Order: sequence, then structure tokens, then C-alpha cells
Amino acid sequence: QELSHTSKGEMKITICVRKRPVNKREIRNKDYDCITCWHPKVIIHDCKLKVDGITKYLDSNAFAFDHSFDENTSNTTVYKYTAQPLIQFVFNEGGRATVFAYGQTGSGKTFTMEGIQAQAAKDLFVELDKWQQHGTSLELWMSFFEIYGGQCQDLLRQKRLTIREDGNGEVQIVDLDEVKIHSEAELLQTMQRGNALRTTHATEMNDQSSRSHSICQLHIREAGSMKLHGALLCLLSSNAALGKLSLIDLAGSERGADTKSHNRQRRMESSEINKSLLALKECFRALDSGGRGAHIPFRASKLTQVLKDSFVNAKARTVMIAAVSPCASSADHTINTLRYADRVK
Ligand code: ADP
Ligand code: MG
Repeated sequence: QELSHTSKGEMKITICVRKRPVNKREIRNKDYDCITCWHPKVIIHDCKLKVDGITKYLDSNAFAFDHSFDENTSNTTVYKYTAQPLIQFVFNEGGRATVFAYGQTGSGKTFTMEGIQAQAAKDLFVELDKWQQHGTSLELWMSFFEIYGGQCQDLLRQKRLTIREDGNGEVQIVDLDEVKIHSEAELLQTMQRGNALRTTHATEMNDQSSRSHSICQLHIREAGSMKLHGALLCLLSSNAALGKLSLIDLAGSERGADTKSHNRQRRMESSEINKSLLALKECFRALDSGGRGAHIPFRASKLTQVLKDSFVNAKARTVMIAAVSPCASSADHTINTLRYADRVK
């Protein structure tokens, strides 16, 4: 299957929308479905919005993307049109590929990214075996970390990390652990370990998962070329990786109410999330209009800083999956998500 792309100068970016099914709670609350995914369009129908306690009526709005996945679309199909073509790109062209899930909390970002992780694990090892049969030994290395409230945390070693930028603008995540992965089973297990740690944080610390960006990176290297660890590994990693796939589950995009919260911690986190999602959008737009020569505001957030090497690479591709809830009660968040995705296009 060929993936359709919106040409972005130096970087190719594909934008998709995925709608999740109406859930039991929404049925119980007599909420109703106001979204139609009619590939490649997404239509949000007339519905009521409450803005500052005042009910407003929203006209029907239509958006068009590269793909529009309805509530009956399986993870397998979503994967086939989004991440799967990137696996070939990473191996055959040494490309830097990034997949994002964007959207409000509860819209299906984690459901989508965990589905993609599982299927990518399988295909990565199919590809590694194929190369092995043709006489090229490649290795797969993995790192998994999250950015929460502007702090960076290793999800494989439960450790606080610092981000450093050297004089040449090279960004390093100091001491980020990279583990060598030997099989599909080991890869799945390691992904699950990282996901579980994220979930543990979530219950302990006020649903952190909706407030953190989780970044799972898979590096393809030549066998034996990387036997280093710790800081040195990070220093060299951007040059040494042949190809790299980043799977990113972004923090929930609903932050309006929080920015007025009386809880100071909450307000700080929210403005940090707003800042990073805005910075991400601005980077996409700058990459589109100017390519590599232009000023791209990577330094505006930790998120964009750590993704810099994936974005400015000559061989870069990105897929953004905007996850939306189907119901009228989420219409204001949904329209924000669709507008965000539309502006990245
Ligand atoms: P988010 O990560 O955006 O906060 P989740 O991925 O946790 O949202 O999804 C919220 C709930 O909806 C979960 O219980 C999840 O299993 C369910 N869900 C999300 N997307 C789908 C889907 N496409 N099909 C079935 N269930 C889904
Ligand atoms: Mg989630």
C-alpha cells in the first residue's frame, strides 16, 4: 500500500484522523455521535457547545486529511496506512520516521499507539531477518522516555534525565538508557514495561499519562558498531543510527480549563503542555515553508528539542494521527484537534 503524502519541502508529513467508538458511559448519558469520517473527510455536524456557561451552536464543519479512519477501523488498518510504510523507509533509506498521536484525553491516543507498537515490533523483526539473510547484520536498540512538566524521565530505568544542547546545536539526552533488543518478544516486553511504568505514574500522580509525552525510539544500527553506554552513546547516537523510528503518545491536548485552575502545579503543567504542542505545530509549519535553511523554533520546548535530529534530517517523514472522541460533549475539544491537524497539513 502506498502512503499518500502532503509534500512538506524537506519533510514529508501525513495527517490522519481517527475517531473512536461511542462508549457505554456516553450512551448512558444520552450523549450523541456528531462526527462522520468519510475518507478523506471528517465532518463535525451541528451540535451544541458550552463556552463559559453559554450554549452556542456550531455549524457543520468539514476538514480533509490524508486519511480519515472511522470508529470501525481496526488498529491493523490504521497501522497499515500510517506506520507500516515507515518501516521500509527506516531500513531501506536510513530514514528518520516519527509517528504522533495527538488529541484530548480519552480520545484513543494510547489505544492507537499501543496497537502500532505491537505491529511495528513484528515488522521490525521481519525486516531484520530479511537483512540477515542477505548477509547484513543489523541491530535494534530501544530507548523509551517521557517528558512531564518540562522534565525528562527514563521509562526503562526510572531515572530523571537532563537535556543538553552543545555549541553546535546538537541535542543530547544525558544518560538515556538504550537497550539492545534481540527478538520480537523481547521488544514487546520492553515496550510493555515502559507503558506500564507510565500507567503507574498515572495512578500515583493524578493521571500523569494525560500530562506527559511518551517517546519510544527504535534505532537501527550496524551490528557491533555501538557498544558504548551512557552519555557517550547519546552523544554519538544521532550519527550512528542507520534509521530511527519514534512512536510518540502526546499529552492530552485539552488544556483550556486547566490554565485557569487554582492548583498552581496543575496550571504550570498545563502551560508547559500548551507550549510544547504549540512549538510542535510551529516547527512543522517552519519546516514546510523554509526547509532546512529556515529558522525552526526547536528550542521553544523540550519536546521539539529532543525531536530536532529526527526533523532536520534530510530523510525525514512524519505521520500525525489526530484522535477524536465521537460525542457532542467533546465537540469543542474535537474542533480544536481538527483545527490543529489542519494547520499542520
Ligand atoms: P487517550 O490515550 O487518548 O487518553 P485511550 O487510548 O486511553 O485515550 O482511550 C480511552 C478509552 O477508549 C480506552 O478504554 C480505550 O480502550 C478506548 N478506545 C480508544 N480508542 C478505541 C477504539 N478505536 N476502539 C475501541 N476502543 C477504543
Ligand atoms: Mg493515553
